[in-house]
Amino acid sequence: MTGQRVVIVGAGQAGSDAAAALRERGFTGTVTLVGEEGAVPYQRPPLSKGFLAGRTAAAELELRPEAFYGAHGIDRVHRDPVVRIDREGTVVVLESGRTLPYDRLVLATGARPRTLPVPGAALTGVQTLRSLADAGALRRELSGARHLAVIGGGFIGLELAATASVLGVRTTVVEAGARVMGRTVGPEVSARLAGEHRAHGVELLLGREVTALEGDRKGHVRVVELNDGRRVPADVVVVGIGALPAVELAADAGLEVGGGIVVDARLRTSDRAVYAIGDCARFPSPYAPGQLRLEAVQNASDQARHVAAELCGASAPYTAVPWFWTDQYDLRVQIAGIVRAGDHRVTVGDPAGRFSVLCFRDGVLVGTESVNRPADHMITRRLLASPDGPRPTPDEAARPGFDLKTWQAPAPVSA
Ligand code: FAD
Repeated sequence: MTGQRVVIVGAGQAGSDAAAALRERGFTGTVTLVGEEGAVPYQRPPLSKGFLAGRTAAAELELRPEAFYGAHGIDRVHRDPVVRIDREGTVVVLESGRTLPYDRLVLATGARPRTLPVPGAALTGVQTLRSLADAGALRRELSGARHLAVIGGGFIGLELAATASVLGVRTTVVEAGARVMGRTVGPEVSARLAGEHRAHGVELLLGREVTALEGDRKGHVRVVELNDGRRVPADVVVVGIGALPAVELAADAGLEVGGGIVVDARLRTSDRAVYAIGDCARFPSPYAPGQLRLEAVQNASDQARHVAAELCGASAPYTAVPWFWTDQYDLRVQIAGIVRAGDHRVTVGDPAGRFSVLCFRDGVLVGTESVNRPADHMITRRLLASPDGPRPTPDEAARPGFDLKTWQAPAPVSA
């Protein structure tokens, strides 16, 4: 691999991990990590949790200290995004006009928050939450806020609601669906989360949509207007209605895109010199039919390690078990595997306390959603990682006294 030039576009979780993994594997070519943000690559999960609450400092978010990159021969370009990929010339063009030649290109451009297509969305006090800059601005806004309205009851919106309510800010969540986190978890976990939010004084307005945002004479948001006529007072509004994969560069370069940058089982795009990983990539998975796009740290990190192995000569399909977590109040929700509506669900434990929902498709365990039952989560990941190993049946799981700990499988997985 000596002499090979790898350029990584996007200096987030996936990009930084890919650069580090290349060096860990002894890659001796050049590695250039290009980012549009100014900060040293950082973790996003604390942005809606510890950082927003003031418990975690910005420096603690860094994935690796700044000195790591230089010490490992990783050329870090920041605040200079890639604006064009010239596939014929095998160079990328940066906003500054600088060009970087590559032999292999890794797209790790992440995702960008959806914006709210209603009147008033550009008022001050209305924002999304994706970057450290967003979180810093929100932290300042919340310090003087009386009433926060969160649009969207997905994981980011709920984490934010939990943090804000604990900070003493009156919080309302408006969710178009019938239950919170409806795209990520089943009804049992949704109900548990909703109960916890209500117990902390968060108002949940479900099955309602925002029609407009109204501001004062200075152009600052004051009211969120809903489709049932209700007017929710708010001096800060956060729009958390999902994210769209950052595919523009890939699309402009003629790569196949569709709900993400489309890659094969080895994470290669339709151009074999170009890979895509993390939130921006849509990939085939043994854990679900069709192609998947996941927004999770696990996926970004595992795909980063996989692509580094590929660039060092390995060739194997990407088969890491998908998993995800969200922290709200004292609840840690963990999801292992890909669960779909229609899967058969068996609840183990106390749905008002600590519990897990084991999910089966065609009688086979395909995932577990856990609330404060980390052992169930870890065991499920091990079971899913051994496709030919034994797994509990739905009948066994439904028996009184069932304990997933009796189904430990030998294959180790990373924490
Ligand atoms: P990102 O980390 O978004 O990095 C992409 C980078 O590419 C960005 O820095 C972007 O600026 C840059 N970029 C884009 N285009 C260009 C370009 N043309 N040139 C140069 N750079 C470019 N996941 C969990 O598993 N658990 C959680 O609890 C959790 N909480 C979260 C809380 C918040 C508030 C957010 C925003 C996300 C959370 N996530 C969580 C999701 C997780 O952070 C993402 O899945 C992960 O960051 C994806 O990594 P990535 O590298 O694919 O994308």
